[in-house]
Amino acid sequence: MKCVYLDFNATAPVHPDALKAMLPFLSGSYGNPSSLHLSGRVAKDALEDARAAVALSLRCLPEEVFFTSGATESNNLAITGILRRKFKDAKPVIATTLIEHGSTLSVYRRLEKEGFRVVYMRPSGDGAVPPEEAARALSAGAVLLSVMLANNETGVIQPVAEMSKLARTAGAYVHCDAVQAYGKMPLDVDALGVDLLSLSAHKAYAAKGVGALYVRKGVLLEPMSVGGLHERGLRPGTENVPGIAGFGRMAELVAVKCGDFAAHELMLRNRLEDGLREKVSDFHVNGVLAERLSNTTSAAFEGVEAAALASALDRAGVEVSTASACSSGSGGPSHVLKEMGVDPALALGTIRISNGIFNTVEDIDFAIQSISSAVAHLRGEA
Ligand code: PMP
Repeated sequence: MKCVYLDFNATAPVHPDALKAMLPFLSGSYGNPSSLHLSGRVAKDALEDARAAVALSLRCLPEEVFFTSGATESNNLAITGILRRKFKDAKPVIATTLIEHGSTLSVYRRLEKEGFRVVYMRPSGDGAVPPEEAARALSAGAVLLSVMLANNETGVIQPVAEMSKLARTAGAYVHCDAVQAYGKMPLDVDALGVDLLSLSAHKAYAAKGVGALYVRKGVLLEPMSVGGLHERGLRPGTENVPGIAGFGRMAELVAVKCGDFAAHELMLRNRLEDGLREKVSDFHVNGVLAERLSNTTSAAFEGVEAAALASALDRAGVEVSTASACSSGSGGPSHVLKEMGVDPALALGTIRISNGIFNTVEDIDFAIQSISSAVAHLRGEA
């Protein structure tokens, strides 16, 4: 059976070049980067090459890149790390948006329970959080803002650079979850003006269980774990050398080919949305008025239940998700669409279709056909 994978915002297959870069470190070059012998030095070199490549893709210094187990850890470490180190026992005002990924939002909710005052910045109807929301948080005294660069459900790009400018003037720190944007738009930490930035390798065609945290030089974090001097003590534990080597290879590709990747994805996204508009009535794209990622369509179908649609598509060989993959098990409507003010019935009829660099025009045409028949069937029109 033909199977078309259109859930790249959940995860992506490993790119052949990344796989090639990983393989030697799974068997032949198995050294521990902390060992001083030749095998250890070979592994250490691979680690530092990957760090330099990730730094190149972010336009930062290699020593500003710390490898982690993924963006969930990076987000946790960034937020709690700076608060514990810089503000010690004080419980200052902190701020984040209502549309963050759970790995940021849950940290803020926990801190709120611990007594921190949290200002939640609201998106407007188009899915973008206006910079004025950052100004509101800063005038309430926020010392740290967490703002994602692109939303995982809608693909809507957030005005991080503008918010950072306001934060800088107010002397506040900015943490940015750039997981979904990485590889789809060029990133430059100075242009974004951020102090901390989280990445996940598996969203960018490298392996699962690897990520990175960019920490601006001079910004100090308290580690979450203790027990070793790996990653200069910020993230102790033997490094995932194969995973990091694959991430490094993808970072090299991202630095050079990000524009080509995005152009291909955008062509596919436009074809999909045009095709659905032509073939399916009462179809809407959430966040359509905002600047969006090249690959993401938050597709709402009136009179259809998203879970039923996603499972009909699964049977037809098209893989999409109902909301974010991480929260789709939660059953409720997406918090992102809710905060954007999307009509609840429409939110419950929304699927996320996220393409990737391996998809073809034929995949998209197959998806359009499958979606239009499934929607017609569920509406009792066919
Ligand atoms: N942030 C965003 C925006 C994400 O989409 C994800 C993955 N769903 C994460 C963070 C968490 O990344 P990881 O899977 O590497 O923990």
